[in-house]
Amino acid sequence: MGTLLGAAEIREIAARIGVNPTKKLGQNFVVDANTCRRIVKIADVRSDDVALEIGPGLGSLTLALLEIAASVVAVEIDKRLADELPITVASHGFDVDRLHVQNEDALTTQTLPAEPTVLVANLPYNVSVPVLLHFLEKFPTIRSGVVMVQSEVADRLVAVPGSKSYGSPSVKATWWADLTGAGNVGRQVFWPTPNVDSSLVRFVRHDPAGSERERQVTFRVIDAAFAQRRKMLRSALSQLFSGEAEQAILSAGIAPTARGETLLLRDFIAIANTLEQ
Ligand code: SAM
Repeated sequence: MGTLLGAAEIREIAARIGVNPTKKLGQNFVVDANTCRRIVKIADVRSDDVALEIGPGLGSLTLALLEIAASVVAVEIDKRLADELPITVASHGFDVDRLHVQNEDALTTQTLPAEPTVLVANLPYNVSVPVLLHFLEKFPTIRSGVVMVQSEVADRLVAVPGSKSYGSPSVKATWWADLTGAGNVGRQVFWPTPNVDSSLVRFVRHDPAGSERERQVTFRVIDAAFAQRRKMLRSALSQLFSGEAEQAILSAGIAPTARGETLLLRDFIAIANTLEQ
């Protein structure tokens, strides 16, 4: 069994490989081994899992995943970090053959060297929602996962209709999965200390709410409804339905005077179906 990374070593590796954490890439590294173990536990990682980590950084969470999972697939945009990760893994007593590092922008990932079964990541904050939706869409073998995101984003991901945080991420994510809040993480466990709070979101995949074609149309309706969230649906969707929005919304069984923020995914699907007819 290997050992995990501590705060001093994290700074030391970063200095040695010339990494000065940048805001642009959301580089706030977890320097507390207990936090990493806690995340892996909440994710319910099993010994036969292929864990997918997006943005492994210096490897804090990667090592905690290697304590339990069969293997880890890690997608990291920063080449210096991607190159160093196998070295850190080996020097901490883990079998480097259980790690596959892919150096690319996770938003563009189309293939992976192994089929991931669980997603566990401290996501780069500026792209956390698109990255999560991208992997839910492209990699249906992911059965569940835990992601750490900015607290406001976590609120949005788990929000229910009618609440202030409810928006397009909340509805879109439920196309593939059930999402729940899984606790907060203090700022002091990061280096450098971020100026926002962080929270964990757990998800469990279910059957997709419809076909890929239905999803694309439904997501267009969702985008239009939330692009102008203060507007009633009949005007927010008027362009999409080229003037026929009122009738289309009515025939989907929804009040044209309602706002997107009160609708469930199934309501958006009903409207999308009328668009298709
Ligand atoms: N997992 C590490 C940890 O918990 O200490 C690092 C997390 S840090 C919040 C986010 C990581 O994602 C950084 O290593 C950063 O370089 C990487 N990253 C940023 N944008 C990315 C992208 N578009 N695709 C892949 N990795 C990205």
